[in-house]
Amino acid sequence: MKIRFEERKDLKEKPTGNLGFGKYQTDYMFVMDYEEGQGWHDARIVPYGPIEFDPASMVLHYAQETFEGMKAYKAKDGRILLFRPEMNARRFINSNKRLSMPIIEEDDFVQAVEEIVRVEKDWIPTGEGESLYIRPYMFATEKAIGVHPSHSYKFIIICSPVGAYYPEGVNPVKIYVEDEFVRATVGGTGFTKCGGNYAGSLAAQVKAEALGYTQVLWLDGVERKYVEEVGSMNVMFEINDTIITAPTEGTVLPGVTRDSILHILRDWGYKVEERHLAIDDLMKAGHDGTLQEAWGTGTAAVISPIGELYYKGDVVQINDFRTGALTQKIYDTLTGIQWGDLEDTYGWTH
Ligand code: PMP
Repeated sequence: MKIRFEERKDLKEKPTGNLGFGKYQTDYMFVMDYEEGQGWHDARIVPYGPIEFDPASMVLHYAQETFEGMKAYKAKDGRILLFRPEMNARRFINSNKRLSMPIIEEDDFVQAVEEIVRVEKDWIPTGEGESLYIRPYMFATEKAIGVHPSHSYKFIIICSPVGAYYPEGVNPVKIYVEDEFVRATVGGTGFTKCGGNYAGSLAAQVKAEALGYTQVLWLDGVERKYVEEVGSMNVMFEINDTIITAPTEGTVLPGVTRDSILHILRDWGYKVEERHLAIDDLMKAGHDGTLQEAWGTGTAAVISPIGELYYKGDVVQINDFRTGALTQKIYDTLTGIQWGDLEDTYGWTH
């Protein structure tokens, strides 16, 4: 794929101090357009700035929008690392197919990410836990009111220098088990990263926060019986020395972090079960002491220990609200690989 570059002279001041998450954007963005019949064309890296599109653009009405989230890291020896970018490329293809949107070939997706990161390499922060967050996304631009798949799209990649996702760092959070709203259901779009999934999840998030909880734990959308995800992370439980996580059968997002951690745990000799876990059994394990540790996994936070679960008036504390030894070991190992401090025996860094 040929990528055109449009230089800007007015480079921004780079932020210092606490970067937060997603607050700052870099100097450039990658943009590419799609029209039916013509396919993808005019791949370009241009100055970051507002884009213009028609008020009738279909994304604004019918939410044909998909996205990805990944990071670039600067290693101590100066190497610039991506982490398993091909997994994001493949997940993006799956999202786009489900939303009746055109796909971007894996190689083109990875090339576009590589190029924007190369241009913005000086924006990759190097403090503890810092990285460059990369947000590729696609949306429908056809000017039409009427429900059908759009005939034109834009694909954009923007980048943000970010600090640690949770200002608390690797510290346990309190989780509200959501028994009213659901995130996804069988036959729906749970396995995709489409904006609509997140719009629909906000009401539960707002409710949980009002009650003093950091995130919600989602139950399945059919029976509200089985544990699926926590906030916008996959979730894992250590019960009786076995790691249990929901299977990725259509309602759960197949996380890159989830897959990587399961690999590592199996290598360490842990018994790993990808299966449905009933919330009643989880709460019971919390009370009888067999629930040892619990954590969420995702690109943004990497790992987030769960210290407390609230479900229908019942509360369990996990590991006395302290970060568990296994949770910490997984965090250290995975971030060690991602930031290039540990040898990558898996060939995941790119
Ligand atoms: N579940 C949901 C709903 C998410 O939005 C994310 C973040 N992409 C994840 C899980 C974790 O996925 P990953 O490890 O690829 O970031």
